[in-house]
This record gives sequence, structure tokens and C-alpha cells, in this order.
Amino acid sequence: MTNPRKKAVIVGGGLAGLACAWRLQEMDWEPLVVESSETIGGRVRTDEQDGFLLDHGFQVFLSAYPVASEVVDLEALALQRFRPGALVHRQGRTHRMMDVFRCPQHLLGTAWQPIGTLRDKWLVGKLRRKALRMSEEEIAETKDQTTERYLREFGFSEGMIASFFRPFYGGIFLERALETSCRLFLFTFKMFAKGYATLPADGMRAIPRQLAARLPSEAIRCEATVTSVSPNKVTLASGESLEADVVVLATDVDTARRLVPGSGGSAVQWRSVVGLYFSADQSPLKEAIIALNADADALVNNVCVLSDLSPNVAPPGKALVSVSVLGRHEEEGLEARVQKELARWFGPEARQWRPLRTYHIPKALPAQPPNRTRALRTHAGHYFCGDYCETASIEGAIRSGLQCAEAIASKDP
Ligand SMILES: Cc1cc2nc3c(=O)[nH]c(=O)nc-3n(C[C@H](O)[C@H](O)[C@H](O)COP(=O)(O)OP(=O)(O)OC[C@H]3O[C@@H](n4cnc5c(N)ncnc54)[C@H](O)[C@@H]3O)c2cc1C
Repeated sequence: MTNPRKKAVIVGGGLAGLACAWRLQEMDWEPLVVESSETIGGRVRTDEQDGFLLDHGFQVFLSAYPVASEVVDLEALALQRFRPGALVHRQGRTHRMMDVFRCPQHLLGTAWQPIGTLRDKWLVGKLRRKALRMSEEEIAETKDQTTERYLREFGFSEGMIASFFRPFYGGIFLERALETSCRLFLFTFKMFAKGYATLPADGMRAIPRQLAARLPSEAIRCEATVTSVSPNKVTLASGESLEADVVVLATDVDTARRLVPGSGGSAVQWRSVVGLYFSADQSPLKEAIIALNADADALVNNVCVLSDLSPNVAPPGKALVSVSVLGRHEEEGLEARVQKELARWFGPEARQWRPLRTYHIPKALPAQPPNRTRALRTHAGHYFCGDYCETASIEGAIRSGLQCAEAIASKDP
């Protein structure tokens, strides 16, 4: 007779929880994912509305992510690529800054754009070579400091930092002060140099859906909120108890700390963003590229037209415009203010765009300052995974889920 499989209850059906469950299943465990929302995916979800596919806030999958790209079947996602580079809008004019290593035809054009100096453009090439040569271990050992300080020490001019790095990495770190650790900057810079920013043709939801599809349907329970945990039991809001050999906390960091008091770590600061979607009759960009706002007093940080990338995301004859505004903006009339600003950028037709939906995401990314202490992965018999244990990204969430599963299996006699 074979031994019954060991049971793991995983609290949270985001990417970390799903990756952990899948890996445990591969190692012959019986996982059960318990998710409070009506659907899996956590921060990576997509809504369907009037024929549009709306991700919960603009995000991209970097095709060079080393672990995520191994775990996820990229071909099945039908990844659509952004052009490597950006359009930088500053004081009423738009400048094209391309990755000239991938788009050599833009070498002269990019070199002479008034965004940064010629030396800055040369430094971008130098940084690119450096990041591509660095191993992950070397990046992890780099003197930790803010991205802003790192860029200054590397020799970039104030103009280049203000007009390019603040809006570009502001859109990734969800903060334009560039207070995020330079190690994350180097890692992300390397990912952009090695691969492409992409979106699955069917929206970002395709990533968690693919992981979930590897589990039997009875291994995922949605609309089940966990209210308390012990190392071998979770209790749901309904009062039901679920017993297991192991309990994994795969929630956001705040919930994990609440459910397991004393699990350590200091309170996490969150980076917030508002993602707005508009329907337009025509694409204001007409190409799959990210447009950045370099004006210091700008409300909008970045804009792109997702239907230029993937026709699936909008009904025929319509363009889906995605706009990111950093921070919290709970005030009334945000859409109108955004459209007013975008009219100065794209012309008066921007005022005619139809607002589709606005996603306020106060807890988008845990802040990642330099020298942060790594979150606990185990505490008093509990296991933890989530982006906060690694890096606040799709890669970090998936990695942490896999690492958690490995840690559980390694303790399994
Ligand atoms: C707007 C935005 C833009 C981003 N941009 C990018 C990007 O471009 N590239 C990139 O790589 N990453 C990006 N990220 C980051 C990335 O999406 C996250 O790091 C990752 O999805 C986090 O996954 P997770 O599993 O750790 O956490 P979560 O996705 O937060 O999953 C936690 C899950 O736990 C559930 N849960 C919480 N409490 C309970 C409870 N009591 N009981 C049961 N379930 C519970 C939640 O409902 C949730 O489903 C972005 C994130 C946001 C929000």
C-alpha cells in the first residue's frame, strides 16, 4: 500500500501561492489553494468589459525573467512585445528614445534627442554591457543604495535622470524619486536589455490561469477567506476548518503578518498606483510602445495603447488606452483631469475618449528600499511566500512560491 499524499493548505491564490501549489504537486504533495477573492491571480487579474480586456493596473511580463520564463509556457501565452524603447513627452514635445542595440536604425535619432546628453547615451550603452555581464549573485552583492544615487554615481546627468529614468523606472517601481534599491534597478535593467516587455495576447490573467490549469479543479477554492491559521490548520470566515500537514501563507505581507502575529519584519510601506482605461476611436500612438511623461508636475506617468500590441484586448474599431498615475488619488474627477492633461499631449480628441474603468491600487508593490531585511520564509511552523520575500515582481512571486515548496519538501522525512 502506498502512503497517502501529504496535504498542504496554501492561503492565497496569487502567483506565489499557485507556483508553490504546482511545485508541491510535482513533488507528490496534495495542495489546496484557498483564495478569498472570486478568482485566482491576486494582483495579476484581468476583467472583461464591453469587449475590452482590462488588466488590474498596467503591468508587463519581462520575457527574460529567468525563473518565470522557465515555469510558464511562454509560447502558450502568445506574448506580444513592446518595441524596445520609449517615447518621452516633455514640455509639449515628444522624443523617441529607442534601444539602439535592438533598433540600430534609431542610433542617430536617439543620440541627438534632447533627452540627456551624448555622454548619457554612451553611459546607457556602458550600463547595458555591465548589467548583461553581471550574474545575479554579483547584482545581489552590489553596494546597496538608492537607484537615484547609483545613477548619479554612474555619471548620468540630472537631465537624463529627470527626463528618462524617473518616468521609466517610476512606472516600474511605482515611485519617481527612485528610492528603490539599485540592485532591483540593475536586475530590471538587465531584463530589459536581455529580453522584451511583453503582454500575453489574452491579458495578464493568462499567467495565473496557466499555473492554475496545472492543478486539479478541486485543488483551488475561491471565495474562501482564511481568518486564522495554525501550523496544521486554517479556519475560514464561514467557520469551516481545513487540516493539513503544512500551511503556507501566500497572501500579501500585511495579511501574513496579521494571521501570524510575531512573524517579524517591520511594517511595509506600499507603492500605490491608479490604472485608468479609455476607449478611443483611434490609437493616439499607432505603435506598440510605452510613452512616458517627463514633466515634473505631470499627473500621468505613462501611457500605452494596448490594442496596438494585441488586437484581442479591444473590440474591432476601438483602441484601448492604458494610463498610469502614480500614488493614491481618491479625489473625484481624476478621469477628467487625466484627459485634460492628455489633450495637451495627444490633441483635443483625448477629451472625447470614453472612460472605461479606473483601478485604484493602494497596495500595488511593497516598497523595496536599499538594505531591506529579507522577510521570514518560516516562523513557528508556518511557511511564507509572496513577492515581499523576494522581489516585488512576477518573477519574485513565482520564485518565492517555488522556494517555499522546496523548503517544505526538504523538511519532509
Ligand atoms: C499595478 C501593478 C503593476 C505591476 N507591474 C508589474 C510589472 O510590470 N512586472 C512585474 O513583474 N510585476 C509587476 N507587478 C507586481 C506583481 O504583480 C506582484 O509582485 C505579484 O503578482 C505578487 O504576487 P503574490 O502572489 O506575491 O501576491 P498577491 O498577488 O497579492 O496574492 C495574494 C493572494 O492572497 C489572497 N488573500 C489575501 N488574504 C487572504 C485571506 N485571508 N484568505 C485567503 N486568501 C487571501 C489575495 O486575494 C491574493 O489573491 C505589478 C503589480 C501591480 C499591482
